[in-house]
Amino acid sequence: MRDAAPAARGWPGVGPQLAGLLAKLDIRGPQDLLLHLPLRYEDETRLTPIAAARPGFAVQVEGEVQSSEIVLRPRRQLVVRIADASGTLVARWLNFYPSQQKQLASGRRVRLFGEVRGGFFGDEMIHPRVRVVEADEALPNALTPVYPTTAGVGQATLRKLIDRALASEMLDDPLPVAACRGLGLPGFGEALRALHHPAPDADPAALELREHPAWRRIKFEELLVQQMSLRRAYNARRARQAVPLPVRGELTAALLASLPFRPTGAQSRAVAEIAADLAAPHPMQRLLQGDVGSGKTLVAALAMLQAVDNGWQAAMMAPTEILAEQHWRKLSDWLAPLGIGVAWLSGSRRKREREAELERLRSGELLLAVGTHALIEDPVTLPRLALAVVDEQHRFGVRQRLALREKGEAGRRPHMLMMSATPIPRTLAMTHYADLDVSVLDELPPGRTPIRTKLVSDARRDEVVERVRQACLGGRQAYWVCPLIEESEALQLQTAVETFETLVAALPELRVGLVHGRLKADEKSATMKAFSTGELDVLVATTVIEVGVDVPNASLMVIEHAERFGLAQLHQLRGRVGRGSAESVCILIYAQPLSQTGRERLKVIYENTDGFEIARADLRIRGPGEFVGARQSGLPLLRYASLEDDTDLIDPAREWAERMLREMPEASERLMKRWLGGREALLRA
Ligand code: ADP
Ligand code: MG
Repeated sequence: MRDAAPAARGWPGVGPQLAGLLAKLDIRGPQDLLLHLPLRYEDETRLTPIAAARPGFAVQVEGEVQSSEIVLRPRRQLVVRIADASGTLVARWLNFYPSQQKQLASGRRVRLFGEVRGGFFGDEMIHPRVRVVEADEALPNALTPVYPTTAGVGQATLRKLIDRALASEMLDDPLPVAACRGLGLPGFGEALRALHHPAPDADPAALELREHPAWRRIKFEELLVQQMSLRRAYNARRARQAVPLPVRGELTAALLASLPFRPTGAQSRAVAEIAADLAAPHPMQRLLQGDVGSGKTLVAALAMLQAVDNGWQAAMMAPTEILAEQHWRKLSDWLAPLGIGVAWLSGSRRKREREAELERLRSGELLLAVGTHALIEDPVTLPRLALAVVDEQHRFGVRQRLALREKGEAGRRPHMLMMSATPIPRTLAMTHYADLDVSVLDELPPGRTPIRTKLVSDARRDEVVERVRQACLGGRQAYWVCPLIEESEALQLQTAVETFETLVAALPELRVGLVHGRLKADEKSATMKAFSTGELDVLVATTVIEVGVDVPNASLMVIEHAERFGLAQLHQLRGRVGRGSAESVCILIYAQPLSQTGRERLKVIYENTDGFEIARADLRIRGPGEFVGARQSGLPLLRYASLEDDTDLIDPAREWAERMLREMPEASERLMKRWLGGREALLRA
């Protein structure tokens, strides 16, 4: 998220070349050095007798060099044997300088720090850290910090620079004493000193696990700053104008009366939250989160009707042609009886149809539009756009969402409703999504039978084919998802076609169709339509059907090479079934041997049906960085605080952020500057 490094300039004591290297570590001045905190610590305060060193643990040993030679087999390396009173040990370096061999001459006393293991030459340390010492040289009396670094910047250099910054910089402490006292946190200076130079009696475990009060102080500060920038973005939005859309309720009531079902409690709650936001003169920015099948489309439709009820326009953008068309059909089905037309904008429509539709949107005759990203292209004008809905919002980049927002009239911003079935754990939503209110659909419509998931090795593929035959002969429909081949689209396509041909041959009595990303939009649309009207029994598909597709009669989902898919993707795909009242089954075919993560993922998907649980597991397996993905995150990821481990700090950070911005604007400014430098503007998108 950072700016490309400008040609690095040095600062006192740091030349341009070193400054350039430090910039790679995001260190651009002494203040950044202070916050460059150790990854871990090494305990060089103690010596371990060689014979007592246990494999797998890093220890420090001291001994006399017995021999030092360059060995050429199994490959060129420096082999040094040392001995203390308890035993001998070999140290090996595969990369070394000639000076190193000289330094480690026979008879020298050395201290080695590293992990011992059994090896080619007996007990050995590979590439230990080494220091030549005098007899009886004192041991350091504190843990040694180990910093994250980059090629060309050694630990010793970093330590020196950081020590200098600690000695010379003002360790400004903008945090109110009351906040520190309430949470049992030390002051800033004290915390930094404790982390860079742990006291001899510091608890190594607390430091290692980052539970030491000094760590908590730093993590709290980081969370606080993050909450401050969220809050500021929120305040900026409140200062903006949007078209207020008061609840009139006529059209929404008419739609609800015409449906064969009643909204779930969760849907009603979300609708009410959104309705209140829309009535305000400031732009709504709300995320509607709901597991696959929870009924987000209806909530969106009701919100859009609130705009229409007030004579304003609303638009809904979906990431794929298939999904956009499905939404358009559904909205048209629901709204045509109420006399409301819906424009459909997608790349596949003929130019003339499009022209006519565009004109009707421009003139304000049509108030609703559904489309793919074709919606944000130039010729589309929505002069009275008051509400923009983005379905499967994580599929769009920040730029595309902004472009949709720009469609409204100048000076006022449309209300934004983002929808996602990729659930984001609450803490992540709160801390990573710039300025977003969240409504959650935590309830599925009644009458669904849970999906059963089965794991099947690909050796039993024939049995799966048989199962598809039985299900379809019994009047149900099935999806067959082809393997994902990320490296090559061509190969993926070829595999899809082959899978299709094999299934056509194996299932002569069934009607089998194929959709993939390379088909023309109208071909895709025709196949999807045939499947949804029951003219096809089996739909062989690539992940183009991953999101949104809604065919309630389909009750069997087969996913080949399931181990290649991500967790969120598997959950989405599985969510294509279980939409009707028939019992649904999802069969995950995997290829042996399974990798560790492959196995872990399949286990999660097998054991869980709740999207939130799955997202949490995903977060654990992948870490928040990848989970959020740079394009959907408005904020840089946290450096030190962890959303999993530091949940108890999040609420206080929110409260103090609010209070400090209100009562201590200057201290807030200093705090934000310390953590964000000049980057706050970047975080706004
Ligand atoms: P998603 O949240 O995954 O986008 P959809 O909006 O596609 O879910 O809804 C899934 C299915 O459930 C659709 O067929 C929809 O018409 C239906 N549905 C929505 N709300 C209800 C409800 N309250 N009761 C019964 N069925 C509903
Ligand atoms: Mg949907």
